[in-house]
Amino acid sequence: RPRAVPTGTCLRYVIVTRLIHLERAGDCVLMRSADTSKPPYVAKVESIEAAGSRGTNVRVRVRWYYRPEESIGGRRPFHGSKEVFLSDHYDVQSADTIEGKCNVHSFRSYTKLDSVNAEDFFCRFDYKSASGSFVPDRIAVFCKCEMPYNPDDLMIQCEECSDWFHPSCIGMTIKEAKKREHFFCQSCTAENGKTTENFHEATGQSEEKRISEKLRMH
Ligand SMILES: [Zn+2]
Ligand SMILES: [Zn+2]
Repeated sequence: RPRAVPTGTCLRYVIVTRLIHLERAGDCVLMRSADTSKPPYVAKVESIEAAGSRGTNVRVRVRWYYRPEESIGGRRPFHGSKEVFLSDHYDVQSADTIEGKCNVHSFRSYTKLDSVNAEDFFCRFDYKSASGSFVPDRIAVFCKCEMPYNPDDLMIQCEECSDWFHPSCIGMTIKEAKKREHFFCQSCTAENGKTTENFHEATGQSEEKRISEKLRMH
C-alpha cells in the first residue's frame, strides 16, 4: 500500500514523470479519463505519496473539480465553457494519469484574463456531490432575463443603473453592442421621476452587492 509522505500536505515531492512539477498545495492538474472520448478531469492536488522506497509508484490525493455536465443539475445556460465546481469528492490516483498542470482561477480573476488558454478554468461554486447542492446557493443575476453572468457571453452595461444586458434580450445584435459607446437600458430611458429609491441605491455599487434572492440554485 502507498506510504503517505509524513506531514499532512507535504508537497515538496516533485513528480518528474513527463516533467510535471507539482510543488505547491493546491496545484491543479488535468487527469486522463478512462473514457478517452471525455475531456480530462480537473483536480486539485492535496498531497503526493510514493509507495516505492525510491520514490516510485507515485500517487496523488486529489480533490475533484466537477464540470457542469457531471453535476446532478447538469449544465445550465449561465455556466461558462471553462467553469468547474470544487467538489467534496476526494480520491487517490496514480500520478501517471496526470496529463499536465492547469489553472483554476477565481471568477473575478478569470474575467480579467487578457486571453483564456486551454488550461485556464474558473470556479465560483463549491459542490456537494452527494446532494448536488452548491455553495453559495445564491448568485447575482443580471439583465431582463435575470440570469447569472456567463463569462462566455458578451453583455452591455447601462450607464445609469449599472445593470448588464445580453444584446439579444434588448433587441440588439452583438455587433451593435460592441460598437455602442453609450448605453441606457429601457427602464432608465423611460425613467420619468418615478424611479424607485432602490434603483438609485444600486447605482455605483459593485455588482456583487446586487445579490438577488430571485435565483436559487436549489
Ligand atoms: Zn438577458
Ligand atoms: Zn439602466
